[in-house]
Amino acid sequence: MNNKGLLIVLSGFSGAGKGTVVKRMMELHDEYALSISATTRSPREGEQDGREYFFKTVDEFKQMIQNQELIEYAQYVSNYYGTPKAYVQNQLEAGKNVILEIEIQGALKIKEMFPETVLMFIIPPTAKELENRLRGRGTEDDATVRARLKRAIEESQGVEDYDYIVMNDEVDCCVERIHNIVTAEKCKASNNYQTINNIREELKIFSEGE
Ligand code: 5GP
Repeated sequence: MNNKGLLIVLSGFSGAGKGTVVKRMMELHDEYALSISATTRSPREGEQDGREYFFKTVDEFKQMIQNQELIEYAQYVSNYYGTPKAYVQNQLEAGKNVILEIEIQGALKIKEMFPETVLMFIIPPTAKELENRLRGRGTEDDATVRARLKRAIEESQGVEDYDYIVMNDEVDCCVERIHNIVTAEKCKASNNYQTINNIREELKIFSEGE
């Protein structure tokens, strides 16, 4: 099987539980690495610089763009978010499956640049459940919650460009679905031509004998 890591994009409605799913994925499987994004939004309570995000000023963020340190970046509800390049490259080379938890504009840019990327869209079981989760989080004011719900409607319109829709009804089930998809994707013929060629070359040598 192909030893190079797979690039995985997880998107989904804000409040669909992506963060919890990713955290659980890291606990259960050590062949995954989570990319930490840079953002200009302020830290929420409990968030730490370098753990949830690299928190940047707008000027610092623009400097990162200028230095070509980001694979992609996008604006979301008036803040910038971007994926640092070096970490993703290093982890893929080390054979890790790298998860990018990013929104749709960034997801589509990544797919265009790296077509073998697997785009997954995480959905809640119902719309009501999504609203409850967003309000229950208690970290956003009413206007922000509304902005996110509105944005969720817009995001669902791009969903046909994703490869998989994965329901997060229960965290461990959702993690298992994602892991199963990744396992299947890694076995895809188009991801394994190099392996087949290596085996062919060796077989040629063996079959020719001494
Ligand atoms: P939040 O502020 O709730 O942490 O994130 C808001 C949105 O930004 C989420 O949909 C999240 O997936 C997305 N996001 C986080 N990091 C990145 C990134 O590096 N690039 C892009 N394009 N979106 C991101």
